[in-house]
Amino acid sequence: MEKRIKVKDLLKCEAGRKVTVKGWVRTKRGNKNVAFIALNDGSTINNIQIVVDKTAFEESLLTKITTGAAIRVSGDLVESVGSGQSVEIQAGEIEIYGECDPMRYPLQKKDTSFEYLRTVAHMRPRTNTFGAILRIRNQMAFAIHKFFNEKGFVYLHTPLITASDCEGAGQMFKVTTLDLENVPRNKKGEVDYTKDFFGKETSLTVSGQLEGELGATALGEIYTFGPTFRAENSNTPRHLAEFWMIEPEMAFYDIKDNMDLAEEFIKYLVKHALDNCMDDIKFLNDRYDNELISRLESVADTEFVRLPYTEGIRILEEAIANGTSFEYPVGWGTDLQSEHERYLVEQHFKKPVILTDYPKDIKAFYMKQNEDGKTVRAMDVLFPKIGEIIGGSEREASLEKLENRISELGMSRRGLEWYIDTRRFGSVPHSGFGLGFERLLLFVTGMSNIRDVIPFPRTPKNAEY
Ligand code: ATP
Ligand code: MN
Repeated sequence: MEKRIKVKDLLKCEAGRKVTVKGWVRTKRGNKNVAFIALNDGSTINNIQIVVDKTAFEESLLTKITTGAAIRVSGDLVESVGSGQSVEIQAGEIEIYGECDPMRYPLQKKDTSFEYLRTVAHMRPRTNTFGAILRIRNQMAFAIHKFFNEKGFVYLHTPLITASDCEGAGQMFKVTTLDLENVPRNKKGEVDYTKDFFGKETSLTVSGQLEGELGATALGEIYTFGPTFRAENSNTPRHLAEFWMIEPEMAFYDIKDNMDLAEEFIKYLVKHALDNCMDDIKFLNDRYDNELISRLESVADTEFVRLPYTEGIRILEEAIANGTSFEYPVGWGTDLQSEHERYLVEQHFKKPVILTDYPKDIKAFYMKQNEDGKTVRAMDVLFPKIGEIIGGSEREASLEKLENRISELGMSRRGLEWYIDTRRFGSVPHSGFGLGFERLLLFVTGMSNIRDVIPFPRTPKNAEY
């Protein structure tokens, strides 16, 4: 028997040789004499067509070839007459690996809505749509490492278990081995975390940034890329409780360098998708969103708008004066909601916007303070259909200003001294940002719910599989 060839490679082969292919049956149709099997092995959105001369096989074997069944086929690769592909296989030998009961197979159902598929997330990678999404996800992860590797950034592994509430960026999940039925307490009646596994209170990380800064102020330029956890109880189509974040952090970068990097990065990723995932993107474009490809192409070669927050608020207030209505109020000092971000991007500028210089009171303590005493050097990258895709800033490099801000906010310095040390010993101007991997994937795939771009979504009341 010939060595197995993946469908993706088979479809590029010349006819006139013997081949072996293995995969799952997508469909079987035909007539009395001949059956046509569409076989997929996950290597591509495309299927290979298998032509079966029914007289040459046992009926008992043929009936086992149903949608979802896993099979091996060996035979001749021949030129295809009408399957839409250049080649197909004339079956010589068929082996059934695993049968699939058509009455019970969850993907046999007529209902293939995204909502239904989320309830069978263990099976949904078998569908064309999720196959496409997961292959794109893989390519994007690769492109992220490639981008930073080409630039000489160091991939830094920051911890998932942390003892610092990094930036108050959302609620944290506690990590504990204490017996919840019988919690040890100290004399004051508080939970006695000295009895806990780490001897102190710990949580799952909401960001690797603070540790990332330690790396950047030694290695120069680093990035993290890993799971991130936020226990925010918000059931939105843009939030997960467990998501992946990419956080570059760079010494000697000011806010302008930071914006340049963010823009270059995201364009590189979109271009990589267009160059390497076109079969899958085209499928998603034709099936769900026929502006997907043009949206990706336009972002890949459009200069992003760069605009101070104060200007953004002025534009939104003007829009309201001219009759636009928003669910949430707008005013200097308020945090922008996704509807406001999308208005700026989709209605006003019609291209991605980098909004800068936010009021300090709605941003984290570590952001570099501007001379005006009111704003900080924050930068959020806002995208069509999504709103915020990146949040970043130049960091406050002055020990004095950082300490003042920490006490102004009434934050506890306990457990933060190691961070403050970066400003004590060889402090440098530095900057960084966080890109939500699934938000990027929403943009690249055109999906509208973040649960549909991660294999096993974790959201409030949902931790299946
Ligand atoms: P948002 O305002 O959209 O909730 P945020 O300001 O809390 O986001 P940051 O703390 O700036 O987010 O995190 C950096 C990036 O991580 C965001 O720009 C976004 O792309 C992504 N992100 C943040 N929270 C989530 C989440 N719960 N699920 C998925 N991605 C997220
Ligand atoms: Mn943000």
